This record gives sequence, C-alpha cells and structure tokens, in this order.
Amino acid sequence: MLGEPKNTPYDLRFKFLGIAIRIHPGFWAICVFLGFSMGMSTPPTALLVFSLAVFLSLLIHEMGHALAFNRCGIRAHVVLYHFGGLAVPTGMESYFDHASGYTSKQKLFVTAAGPGMQILAALLVIVALRAMGKTDGFLTEHVGIPARLTADPSGTLDNIIMSLSRDDLAWDLRHMDEQMQALFASADANDDQLLSLAEHDTFQTTVDSLSEQFEQTPIPVPSVTAMVIKSEHKNRFIGAELKLLEDADVGDDGLIRISDLQQTLQHQTSFESDLLNKFVYIFVMISLFWAILNLAPVYPLDGGQITRELLVLFNVHNAIPKSLLVSAATGVAIGIWGLGNNQIFLTMMFFMMAYSSYQLLQRFQRGY
Ligand SMILES: [Zn+2]
Repeated sequence: MLGEPKNTPYDLRFKFLGIAIRIHPGFWAICVFLGFSMGMSTPPTALLVFSLAVFLSLLIHEMGHALAFNRCGIRAHVVLYHFGGLAVPTGMESYFDHASGYTSKQKLFVTAAGPGMQILAALLVIVALRAMGKTDGFLTEHVGIPARLTADPSGTLDNIIMSLSRDDLAWDLRHMDEQMQALFASADANDDQLLSLAEHDTFQTTVDSLSEQFEQTPIPVPSVTAMVIKSEHKNRFIGAELKLLEDADVGDDGLIRISDLQQTLQHQTSFESDLLNKFVYIFVMISLFWAILNLAPVYPLDGGQITRELLVLFNVHNAIPKSLLVSAATGVAIGIWGLGNNQIFLTMMFFMMAYSSYQLLQRFQRGY
C-alpha cells in the first residue's frame, strides 16, 4: 500500500532546491475531483487556483521530508500522486521499505519535518495576512476559532458590538415596515425614533406582565443586521474598531448601520481579487488539515511512524506491535467518526489503513 507509482509519459518532472520532483497525472486528477466535490469548480479558474494551492501545500510537506533526508545524508526525491505525496529515498522501492540504516532520532526528524514544514507554511501565511489586516477566511469563519485568539480582523465588528451596552444598540423605527412601526411606537420611550435593545427588553417585560393570565406572546426581534449605532459612539473606540466605524459611517443622519459595518469589514479584511481570497483560504485549510490528518497515529501516515519511533526511542517493550495496535484502533475510531460525519472518503481510507495495520500485526506476531 502507498508505494511509489510507476512512471508515465505524462509525468511532470523538475528540480527544486536540489530535490528531484515528479508529479504523476493522478495527482491532478485527484485535485480536480476534490475541487469539484468541495464546490470549487465555478468559475473554472477557481479549480485552477484550488489545484495550485493543494499542489504547493503538498509539495512543501514532501519537501520537508526530502530536505530532512538530505540532512541525514540520504538522497531522496519527491512524488506527488493520487494518494497525496511521498518522499522516497532514492534507490529504495518505497519510503516504508526503508526501515533500517539510520537511527530512530533521524527517522523522527525526517517524519516530523513533513507536517512540521506544512504547518509552519500555513502559520507564515496567516501571520503575513494579519500584518496586512486580512483574514484567512478559514480559522474563524470555517472552524469557529474565536477571532481574538488568532488576531483575525474579521472579529472587529463583534468587538464593537460587545463593548456597546443595550442602550447603544438600536433599530431605526423609520426603516421598519408599518406593522412593526405600529407595534413598537409605544416601546420607544424617549421618542427618538430608535428602539434600543434596552427599550425592547422593557417592552417585552411590560407585555409579559399584561398578558400574564393569557398565553405568553414573545415580541418579534428584528435582525441584528438591521440595527444601527449612533455615530457619536465612535469616540469610545480606537484602532481597527475606530477605522471600521469611520469607514462605514456613510450617511448624514448620525447613524451607522450594522449592515454597512458588515460590508465594510468584508471589504477591509479580504483582497480585491476573489481568486486570491480563495487561494489563501484553500492553502491554509489544506495545509492544516493535511498536516493534522497525517499526524494521526495510523500506519503508514507520518503519525503512525512517529508513534513507532517514539516507542522504540523510549525502549518500550514490544514497541512495534504496540504501535500497530494503536494504529489499528485509531484507524477504526477515525473511520467511525467519518461515518457519523458523512466523510466517506476519509472512512474508507482509515478503515483500509486499520486493516493493513492489523495484517502487519498478525505477520509480526507470526515472526513474518
Ligand atoms: Zn508526510
């Protein structure tokens, strides 16, 4: 499993940093397949950007392994193909046949260098984006990591909203439909044509107390997007928050609309070119996903080899069968997780790896 694929006339070959690189046509096929299945096929240039981002990310991973091999005095070349990538010591049939000849520490270094370089590349891209005040579109929006933890500027609007009180956030009654205007007319206690969140709360309490003996009737809550902030509240802010408020303060009615803030923020934190935004998003996503996936302690992934070498390094009794047992169990666990999360491709991959770990374990126990 996962040996080096045969040469084809359609292989793309070049050298980078002294490492020979071969790209099997199966690699482009899997890029197109993945691009389509992730909805990255329109416009067609998006598919190209997707493939380029995957190519760069996987190349960095394999270059990490290959350069680490070089440092250990072993010549290696890189192959990208339909299962991803391989860094193969030149003259060996596959990476995995290459079991002896160098120390456990060297093997750990070589194995960790792949995912390590890939994570480093993703972090560098994220740091560069932050330096430009841009979002990666992935960590906050897709994974749901709080913006402040990764200094993602897309959290600027949330910061503004969180530091305002329920008196400061309001809906503009003049921009509501007649029905809503009629409903909320009496709720606007200070008659400023603004229904603040605090006034809405009070109104709800009043209605609740009046209708106590009847059914409770919840008052409709208009959307957050329809809210406004008074321009004078700008003075409470500095830095990115102030800049956003100033840029979005377009009307002359002394109000800043949340919808304008959202649009302005989107404009500020992303690049003009949508293809560039896509590239950044895919590169960060694939790099982190691929690196973390490969660190799962499952053979023949990097994580499976790291587990084995760590057990060997710490002189754990029966290190290899133990690492195979961990591999089979983790493979099954991730496969089941994939089943529950509709990740059929992932499930198939991990069940296959779990089964081959189990077979290896049996062979090992029979003494090959
Ligand atoms: Zn690797």
